[in-house]
Amino acid sequence: MSKIKQYQWAYLRGNKVQISEATISITTQAFNYGTGIFEGIRAYISADGSQLNIFRLEEHLQRLSTSARFLKIFDLPSEIDLKAIIIDLIRANDCKEDCYIRPIVFKQSLLPGQRFGVKLTGVSSSFSINMLPMPSSASKSSGIKCMISPWRRTPDNSIPSRAKICGGYVNSALALESAITAGYDETIMLNNTGDIAEASTSNVFFIKNNQLYTPSLTSHILPGITRDTIIILAQQMGLNVIEKRIILSEAYDADECFLCGTGIEIAPVIQLDSYRIGNGSPGKLTQALMNSYFNIVRGKMDSNWLTLV
Ligand code: PMP
Repeated sequence: MSKIKQYQWAYLRGNKVQISEATISITTQAFNYGTGIFEGIRAYISADGSQLNIFRLEEHLQRLSTSARFLKIFDLPSEIDLKAIIIDLIRANDCKEDCYIRPIVFKQSLLPGQRFGVKLTGVSSSFSINMLPMPSSASKSSGIKCMISPWRRTPDNSIPSRAKICGGYVNSALALESAITAGYDETIMLNNTGDIAEASTSNVFFIKNNQLYTPSLTSHILPGITRDTIIILAQQMGLNVIEKRIILSEAYDADECFLCGTGIEIAPVIQLDSYRIGNGSPGKLTQALMNSYFNIVRGKMDSNWLTLV
């Protein structure tokens, strides 16, 4: 198996450090209890190859700060400082390719006088950034097969859905594992009321009679930044986008379906459980949206969503 390429530098405890030295202790609270929060951010080489741009960095940092609130982390660097730290790290790694940036803010050590155990207050926090090369997932563009997960999406009143909380990703891992083991590429989870929620690490859209449907933000989903991008792009294309509760038979009966997220980008879904979606190949509107998405991230179409490195 080929080894994943690593960049030389990471960020930990306020400094750039060699990746081999970016390590944490087994006593780290987040390692014990999942009490960390994170973001997944992409940077793309522009279409003419001349520059690297981070996609929707501000929105990712705003969501990081929302996530931090839930873990009572109040010493996050400011958005301006975080931006500067990320750009500095990418430059230090001399990155000239599509890449993925993974900031994690995590609960670290018990403060003096605190007793052993799971808690939020009374625990220090720390901050790391790792980055890795990540080319566009072209392999998914021909369409993927999804399975409805036997595992339900964690309800918002158990772990807040709007936050990217490390421990919550056990839910994603269980759901994805079931689908992969059963021979599918991805999973779509229902929420506890039985409505469609989202995929393991992406949001889902359905298209029926030229209208887009996606689970509303009250469907126990992460408010995806790619989801938001798609809604805006679809509206710019004159399409109607409806955010609502979506039931299972609507999903099976869709003309088109796709997943969207920072990592997966846009992946057309051509089969859901035993049901073929549309004619079993990526639908027309899905392809049109993919086109404008890649034009935006590659800087071929004007937007104020790109931050130059
Ligand atoms: N849902 C979950 C559970 C996720 O982890 C992600 C990835 N961040 C998404 C949806 C998609 O969000 P975004 O488009 O902001 O990457």
